[in-house]
Amino acid sequence: MENFITDIIEEDLREGRIDGVVTRFPPEPNGYLHIGHAKAVCINFGIREAYHGKCNLRFDDTNPTKEDVEYVDSIMEDIRWLGFEWDELHYASDYFDQIYEFALKLIREGKAYVCDLTAEQIKEYRGTLTEPGRNSPYRDRTPEENLKLFEEMRAGKFKEGEKVLRAKIDMASPNLNMRDPVLYRILFASHHRTGDKWCIYPMYDFTHPISDALEGITHSICTMEFEDHRPLYDWVVDNCGFEKKPHQYEFARLNLTNTIMSKRFLKRLVEEGKVSGWDDPRMPTLCGIRRRGYPPEAIKTFCEEVGVAKAVSEVDFAMLEHAVRDELNRKAERAMCVKNPLKVVLSGFDGPEEAVFEVNPNEEEKRERKIRFSREIYIDAEDFSENPPPKYHRLKPGGVVRLKGACIIAFEEAVKKPDGSLDYLRCSVVPHSHSGADTSGVKCKGVIQWVSAEEARPVTLRQYDSLLNPEIPEGDFMERLTPDSEHLFSAFAEPYAADAPTGTRFQFLRMGYYIKDRDGSFIEIVGLKDSFRK
Ligand code: ATP
Ligand code: MG
Repeated sequence: MENFITDIIEEDLREGRIDGVVTRFPPEPNGYLHIGHAKAVCINFGIREAYHGKCNLRFDDTNPTKEDVEYVDSIMEDIRWLGFEWDELHYASDYFDQIYEFALKLIREGKAYVCDLTAEQIKEYRGTLTEPGRNSPYRDRTPEENLKLFEEMRAGKFKEGEKVLRAKIDMASPNLNMRDPVLYRILFASHHRTGDKWCIYPMYDFTHPISDALEGITHSICTMEFEDHRPLYDWVVDNCGFEKKPHQYEFARLNLTNTIMSKRFLKRLVEEGKVSGWDDPRMPTLCGIRRRGYPPEAIKTFCEEVGVAKAVSEVDFAMLEHAVRDELNRKAERAMCVKNPLKVVLSGFDGPEEAVFEVNPNEEEKRERKIRFSREIYIDAEDFSENPPPKYHRLKPGGVVRLKGACIIAFEEAVKKPDGSLDYLRCSVVPHSHSGADTSGVKCKGVIQWVSAEEARPVTLRQYDSLLNPEIPEGDFMERLTPDSEHLFSAFAEPYAADAPTGTRFQFLRMGYYIKDRDGSFIEIVGLKDSFRK
């Protein structure tokens, strides 16, 4: 890992500005993590690994109305799935007492005041990018008055929106975030951890720098939209009096083509029943991607290849699929499955009754597996053509084809049903053509997968289109959804695959990569063909 942030870290270490690097990943527990978050996870935990530092997991839970333990649990599971473990686990809400004390300190020092303007008035007084703001009429309250009012806010004496605590900075600052930002608001909401202890809650911009400083975070890494908040971050750190100062650095968030990357929108898909849940295999959530069969190693490789930069860009989804395919090509076991079963009856079948199948030709140590071979097998109906186009190398009248791991078979007859449709094929085994010991001298260009009819197990295959229709590149995403993006097929698979534990990934020969889902069906992870161009 090497990027502008690691350059900064290395310089900080070299110059002795820090003894060690401490980062944190600070999700808000208001939804499930998505592939964009994986990038932030990989950056923060990747730095921990590269510099033997520390990385904390901190739930940024200052928004009681939108947060829930369900999300807390899923976030921890997802980070661990990616292969990372945090040093310390924190909740911003654990700091509420301390944050409150810092607010009192600012009030006493005349750096914060209670303001009675409504949210709308505050906005109006704030000014614009071209016009300075106006001071609130409540700006000059004495510290004593402010202390009393703030304590009354905490005691529940005022209604929501009636009063807020604001920092007293500069209403003429060219940075809107510095124009007396709100530090605390009143919310009569139960918090998933602190219950009803508080009816005032600190804002993100106040909570985050304090939490970072309390944990000794050295590099507080976040996405570009917080760049304009950095002066406020520094103001809070300085004015709360922290000696060891954390610093904020921003990078560009990950955007993927044709992919919804916002918890809010993903939540809508779940709530409006457009998908089966947060872990629907079409969802870009980490649990969805996990269920879909993307290996965590591939996600890490992908994040590494995307890199860390400040310029916002959109990454081709095919690049993620490329990383997944590459990982699976190296790691996934091969197995056989036929999608449109066509029965083939073999004559001249004199054994062996087992075919030998290589588990994965890309493994260093060759592993083989025996497969039942029998007089009746199924092949994919697409691998036979009565009127083949030129250069058709699969089964055709007068032709031969190799059965993977078994032998060459020669076409004899296409047996029809009374209505004229194809019933089954009769083929003959070419003598001495067994795979690995072929002395037949028969030239055979095509190799196809097959399943023994004695053992063939019916399985359901599930294939998915992307949730967003690539043909509608803009507009309200709810209107961009692909209709009927789930496709089911029945197929025959070898028992080895059909009986594999949930979560096992296979390359189904000549078909694609599949993962066994919890209901016993197989979800297509990615196809075999790579559409990604660097
Ligand atoms: P969303 O917009 O999807 O709700 P968020 O930014 O509100 O995401 P947080 O829980 O606040 O979600 O995010 C936790 C961390 O993950 C933050 O540091 C945030 O900057 C980072 N993050 C969120 N989305 C992305 C993304 N698309 N690419 C990179 N980092 C991201
Ligand atoms: Mg956020």
